[in-house]
Amino acid sequence: MADDTVIGREGARVRWAELVDAINAARSEYYQADAPRLSDAEYDALFAELVALEQVHPELVSGESPTQTVGGQRSEMFEPVEHLQRMYSLDNAFSEAELQAWLDRVESGLGEVPQLLCELKIDGLAVDAVYVDGRLRTLATRGDGRVGEDVTFNARYIPAVPQRLASAAGRPIPPLLEVRGEIFFAVADFERINAEQQDLGLPAFANPRNTAAGSLRQRVDRREAELSAARASSSGDRGVAKIARMEAELARARVRLDGLRLTVHGIGAVDGLEITRQSQGYEVLADLGLPVSERARVHESADGVRDFVAYYGEHRHDVEHEIDGVVVKVDEIALQRRLGETSRAPRWAIAYKYPPDVVRTRLLDIPVNVGRTGRVTPYAVMEPVRVAGSTVAMATLHNAYEVERKGVLIGDMVFLRKAGDVIPEVLGPVVEERTGQERPFVMPTRCPECGTALRPEKEGDKDIRCPNTRSCPAQLRERLFHVASRQALDIEGLGYKAAIALLESGLVADEGDLFVLRPDDLLRSPFFTRDPGKGESGPQLSENAKVMLASIDAARDRPLWRVLVALSIRHVGAPTATDLARAFGSLDAIAGASVEDLAAVDGVGPVVAHAVHEWFAEDWHREVVEKWRSGGVRLADEPMDVGPQPLSGITVVITGSLPGFTREGAAEAAVALGAKVAGSVSKTTQVLVQGDDGGRTSSKRAKAEKLGVPVVGPDGFAALLDAGLEAALEHRLEENA
Ligand code: NAD
Repeated sequence: MADDTVIGREGARVRWAELVDAINAARSEYYQADAPRLSDAEYDALFAELVALEQVHPELVSGESPTQTVGGQRSEMFEPVEHLQRMYSLDNAFSEAELQAWLDRVESGLGEVPQLLCELKIDGLAVDAVYVDGRLRTLATRGDGRVGEDVTFNARYIPAVPQRLASAAGRPIPPLLEVRGEIFFAVADFERINAEQQDLGLPAFANPRNTAAGSLRQRVDRREAELSAARASSSGDRGVAKIARMEAELARARVRLDGLRLTVHGIGAVDGLEITRQSQGYEVLADLGLPVSERARVHESADGVRDFVAYYGEHRHDVEHEIDGVVVKVDEIALQRRLGETSRAPRWAIAYKYPPDVVRTRLLDIPVNVGRTGRVTPYAVMEPVRVAGSTVAMATLHNAYEVERKGVLIGDMVFLRKAGDVIPEVLGPVVEERTGQERPFVMPTRCPECGTALRPEKEGDKDIRCPNTRSCPAQLRERLFHVASRQALDIEGLGYKAAIALLESGLVADEGDLFVLRPDDLLRSPFFTRDPGKGESGPQLSENAKVMLASIDAARDRPLWRVLVALSIRHVGAPTATDLARAFGSLDAIAGASVEDLAAVDGVGPVVAHAVHEWFAEDWHREVVEKWRSGGVRLADEPMDVGPQPLSGITVVITGSLPGFTREGAAEAAVALGAKVAGSVSKTTQVLVQGDDGGRTSSKRAKAEKLGVPVVGPDGFAALLDAGLEAALEHRLEENA
């Protein structure tokens, strides 16, 4: 046993040293080089392991341990600035239980339940600004918490950092004021900067946080001095070119500084101001012209804190900047003082961190996919990795330009996130991890399925297509599969494998043949048959084949809009198809309509009108329609189908699932009563129906609340179908905030 303990201790010491090395290396890459190799989640996992190890083995803790220090060494590139008061990091809570444990500690430390200030944890970099007699004296990064890096020379290009304080309420300007805050880019500004980088042929930046850090930590002053020197000594064409390049770089650096934003979230040394509560302090700072967040809220109870955390957990992507959590602070300054700080972090505050939405994984390959309209799309195949609640192994890369813009090579370690928490997106490579074995993606010039030369539809298009639309096996397969999909003719039993079997066995040449299939034909393909049972002779239709045949039969009688969707006309999804079906009533009327007639339909623009018109101009498309007609597909909505239209003129958006309906079924029920079902919320939406979406609150709902569009739940939807809009609005849901 004694030996075990010794080995355990030794093992712990070795692991401790490994963790400290890894964390220090990551800190240096993150804070000094602004180019992390690890994702924040990986860093947090190492840090949490170190904390846990030191709890079991307190003898390992030393002053140098990352758990005892504020993580950011100062770079020699900058002059040192000693902060008037220390800057701290924050302790983290990764679960409700950890948040509760902190609340309990605070309560028992104070002997009372304090008021708690909840703020967004902005994913930027911390700065310290000192104002003397209302003038900016220094702007510095956090550094190791005591001494930061002087970036004051950049401040004159950052409009978000006031050079002078001025009180709107006529308050005297304090002789001394030290504030702390976060420097960051709004996501939209970051995307704009990245687009500009792309235009200049430069690699895209990985994320807003590191771009903000890199932008602030530029020596614009040195560049200016170098430019002046070059101007003074330059001669000849090369000199002129060099100066032009330096000027352009300087201009870019200033533009980036100009876009930086600041939110103040802390107060250091002060003289001449009475601040009793953090929240009241923010009011004073705002009056002095400093930017503070409008989203900070004081809560009286743990429940309020939990609601705030839950709300922004669901709405984190609705905020204009990135957030990685929520910071909860004891509001009263006297109580903050009573709780004090450790060497690394205040005891009176905690950062609740949301689950990671950026992770790293290996990009194994970039194959291309040929879609049902011939579009050729490269996509990333990655080592499976968990991100924002599910395992991801693939992500679209859209087109060759996107692959180039992202700068990824096959074999790269890449950063991956879920955009809007739903669609996986490759952000970019971890360049530092390249081994030289990576290889660039080459967009094929011929269709991987049928060998036809690929080309853009028209000059300037970023997408390239396989023009062999009629018989490219990939397009055929995708179209057939699409015909059967839920949003089109909804044919049960005709999945991807069945579609392939139908095509490969020659039972159908294209989607036109689907409605002339007979049970005997299917017996020719092993996919649709089973071995004969007792007393049966020869192969028999499988259960799946029978289901498919019955479902094909039912599909002959679907409403016109579904037929339109099933035809794979470009840009025609369910909402447009509904508009067209309502306006024209039959496929023949749509086929015979001019571009102007089509474009005149409410909800149909010129692009769609052209796409529809061109589709019907193609011979083989009309052949498909004729085959469907002779196969018994109803190609018109008969007037008697229409029935009473109590919801006509009403635009509805449906999100989430409603009890008793499939997603499409709910829309269909509303459309049958004359409603228009739109795909996204806009000012013209009369009501948003919010079904159950597994606990997540949808972005549609947030948009509706922003625009003042009423939101109803399943009860409201039932009332809408039964008794109309007014009745539905009696079931309005409360606002979510
Ligand atoms: P932290 O980022 O977890 O928390 C402290 C910081 O939060 C403060 O310094 C402050 O700047 C900021 N903050 C944002 N909004 C705030 C608000 N409303 N109120 C108060 N503070 C607010 O701690 P840290 O020590 O700065 O950095 C650790 C974190 O940085 C890690 O959890 C990780 O996310 C990231 N990191 C990543 C790597 C990497 O390799 N990827 C390396 C080091 C650090």
